[in-house]
Amino acid sequence: MPATKASVQHGAPEEERVANERNDSIARLRPGALFLVSTPIGNLGDLSPRAREALRDADLLLAEDTRHTRQLLGACGIERAGGAIESLHEHNERSRVPHVLERLQSGASVALVSDAGTPLLSDPGSTLVRAAIEAGIEVIAVPGPCAAIAALAVGGLPTERFAFEGFLPAKSAARLKVLQELASESRTLVFYEAPHRLRESLEDLARVFGGARRAVVARELTKRFESVYRGALAELATRAAQDADMSRGEVVIVIEGSTAQAVAASADVDGLLRALLVELPVAQAAKIAARATGLPRRELYDRALALGSPRG
Ligand code: SAM
Repeated sequence: MPATKASVQHGAPEEERVANERNDSIARLRPGALFLVSTPIGNLGDLSPRAREALRDADLLLAEDTRHTRQLLGACGIERAGGAIESLHEHNERSRVPHVLERLQSGASVALVSDAGTPLLSDPGSTLVRAAIEAGIEVIAVPGPCAAIAALAVGGLPTERFAFEGFLPAKSAARLKVLQELASESRTLVFYEAPHRLRESLEDLARVFGGARRAVVARELTKRFESVYRGALAELATRAAQDADMSRGEVVIVIEGSTAQAVAASADVDGLLRALLVELPVAQAAKIAARATGLPRRELYDRALALGSPRG
């Protein structure tokens, strides 16, 4: 909205907002700075003008996978003004840091991208960013797509407070342990998941958090087969077992936080299990707890495993 004279004179909030918005070119913006550039998570139309400019003009472009980034540049019709495209991925990030710092310190502008979405969000970059900050280098965000945030927004679950948990462990025992620790978390939880693990993760989530907890599976966001599945964890786990499409492509799982009631109930159940585990093996403790609480034995068995037996 164009500023009015009156608002300029009186420093109205709208005028301050407009004045604070920068519309400057990235190329002219601070040589020797590290730009963290978000790229599309599927839909190329989501590449922002600033991201486009950074990809085109940065003296050094650091890519998680250089082939992938070259494809993105080609698909978006971006011709680099010059300067290298080099790799920075989880296996070489640490060893690449000194070279990148040297480039930054000699005045080069450096842009970091991952294969998709926002760098550092379950993607490489945090070692470099920490090193850059320590070296007094300016770090600038060129924000944009992020699957976690998009899923949270479309999910319909509370967004006021949320916890991003990245990927769950691939193995069930480790996953159950992590979930047990999160069972009483009251914030909305956001997980990334590999499609081939969606079904088993939803089953574990239903076991540990209870099948009634509301959840969302956001699949292939911004892409052709984008779909959002909403329901109770037990329903989503059943659906994942029956509908192969649900596990095709990329998925984010969003889960409602635990309510005070659920925390109290799970604390009771854990207390009971702990007491039983002092005397009994896991299977027997789960069987008795199932009889006492009416909860599924399998769910209690997994909870007991996650609590760990005091008998060793
Ligand atoms: N840094 C990225 C971001 O900002 O979203 C995430 C990178 S992480 C290695 C990849 C995971 O993000 C996928 O396994 C999936 O869980 C999620 N993801 C990425 N793109 C997605 C999409 N279009 N729809 C749903 N989930 C997506």
